[in-house]
Amino acid sequence: MTDEFDVDLFVIGGGSGGVRAARIAAGYGARVSLAEEYRIGGTCVIRGCVPKKLMVYAGRFADEFEDAAGFGWSVGEPRFDWSVLKTRRDAEVSRLESIYDTNLERAGVTVIAERAVIEDAHTIRLVASGRRVRAKYILVAVGAYPVKVPVIPGGDLGITSNEVFELETLPERILIIGGGYIAVEFASVFAHLGSRTTLLHRGDRLLRGFDDEVRDALGLAFDKRLDLRLDQTVERLERRDSGISATLGDGSVIEVDQVLVATGRKPAVSGLGLENVGIETDESGAIPVDAFSQTSVPSIYAVGDVTNRAALTPIAIREGHAFADTVFGGKPWAVNHDLIATAVFSTPEIGTVGLTEDQARERFEAVDIYKSSFRSMKATLSNSAERVLMKIIVDCASDRVLGVHIVGHDAGEIIQAVAIAVTMGATKADFDRTIAVHPTAGEELVTMRVPAVTKRPEGVG
Ligand code: NDP
Repeated sequence: MTDEFDVDLFVIGGGSGGVRAARIAAGYGARVSLAEEYRIGGTCVIRGCVPKKLMVYAGRFADEFEDAAGFGWSVGEPRFDWSVLKTRRDAEVSRLESIYDTNLERAGVTVIAERAVIEDAHTIRLVASGRRVRAKYILVAVGAYPVKVPVIPGGDLGITSNEVFELETLPERILIIGGGYIAVEFASVFAHLGSRTTLLHRGDRLLRGFDDEVRDALGLAFDKRLDLRLDQTVERLERRDSGISATLGDGSVIEVDQVLVATGRKPAVSGLGLENVGIETDESGAIPVDAFSQTSVPSIYAVGDVTNRAALTPIAIREGHAFADTVFGGKPWAVNHDLIATAVFSTPEIGTVGLTEDQARERFEAVDIYKSSFRSMKATLSNSAERVLMKIIVDCASDRVLGVHIVGHDAGEIIQAVAIAVTMGATKADFDRTIAVHPTAGEELVTMRVPAVTKRPEGVG
C-alpha cells in the first residue's frame, strides 16, 4: 500500500459492523483507524440487544416464581429492585465495551474517540480536533437512530429505546407506541417487571412482516398480559402533575408515567459529509451499496443499519467481515440476505426463518402447511395458559422446507438450530427422518405428519 495515505482503512462507527471490519482488515496487515463518537460496541452492545436481553431475563423471573408453586415450591412475595438490575446490567455493558476496545487494540486498530466527517473520497476530518486523515478506503458503519413519528404536540415527552436504558426507576405505568420488534420486546419487559403496560399500535396486528398466525398468537398472549390497543393512534401528549396524559385518536385519554416511542429507526447519515462525495441516499435515507457493500464512490463502502438491507446485528457483522475479506484479504464474497433467521424476545418469544405462509403461497404453486399448537409440558403442572405454536411451510413440488415459525419458550434457541437445516435446503422428508428428542417442545418439528392446510392450484393433487 502506498504512503500517499495515512491509513489503508478508516472506519466510521464502532458498532458491530465497523468493529468486525476493522479487526479483520487489520488482521490482513492493513493500517486501520476507527472513529467512534459515543461508546465502542454500538447500538447492540450499549443500548440494544445486549442490555435488552438482560432485561428480558429479569422480566421472565416473574413467571418462574408463579410457575414454581405448581411444582411444590413456595416462594415468598417476590420483590423486584430496578436499581439492582440497572447497576448490574450497566456494569456488564461496560465490561463488554472494554472487551471490544481491547480486541481492537490487540488487532492493532487505532481507536479515535471523535466524530468523523467525510471530506472527499479519501479524506476524513475529525470534528473535535480538526485533524485530517487520508485513507485508501473509507467504511461507513454508523448505524441508525430511533425516530419518533408522527410528530405530535408534546411528542418530546416520549422517550426512545436510547433513553429507556437510562431510566432511574421502573415506571409504574408506561405507554409504548409501535408494533415492531422494539415495542413488543419492551412491552413484555415492562409488563413482566410489574409496570402497568399499555401497548398501542396503529395497525390491526403486531409485527408486520411476520407470519399472520405468529402475529395472532402474540396478540392473544399480549391481550392476557397487558393493555393492548390496536388500530389506535396517539394525538397529543401533555405533562400533568400526576404524570403524562396521552390523548388517543378515538378521543380517550390515558395517564402514564413514561411514554416509549418505538416507531422505527433511520440510518444515521446526517452530518456525515455524504454530499461532499456525491453519495445520495435512497428513499429510506439509507446509503445504496452493491452486493460487496461498495457505494457509488469506489473508495467508500458501507455496512450495517446505515445501508438498511436487514437491520440486524449478525447481518452487520457478516457484511463487515465480507468487506474486509473482499478488499483486504483477496477473498471476495457477498452476504446472502435471502434467508435470515431471527428472534423476537417478546414473551412469548418468537423464532422464525424463511418464508411466511402468505409469501410461500404467492411464490410457489403448491404449499403444505404443517401446524401444531399445544400447551408445553411445563405448563401442565404450573397451570400456565401459555401455548406453543410451531409451523412448517413446505413446497409440494420439491418437498423443501420454505419456512419455520415458532412462538413459545426458547423459540430463539430452537430456530437457530433449525435455521442450519433450512439453510442447507432441508426437505420435509429430512425433518421426518430426524429422530425426536423427547420430551421437548422442539420434537414437534420432526413429528408433524399431516398438513393442516394444503394450498394447490385448482385441479391439482
Ligand atoms: P420496526 O420497523 O420493527 O417497527 C416500527 C413500528 O413502528 C411498526 O410497528 C410500525 O407500524 C410503527 N410505525 C412506523 N411509523 C409509524 C407512524 N408514523 N405512526 C405510528 N406507528 C408507526 O422498528 P423498531 O423500532 O421496533 O426496530 C428497529 C429495527 O431494529 C427492527 O426492524 C429490527 O431490524 C431491529 N431490532 C431487532 C431486534 C431483534 O433482532 N430481536 C430487536 C430490536 C430491534 P407498521 O407496522 O404499521 O408500519
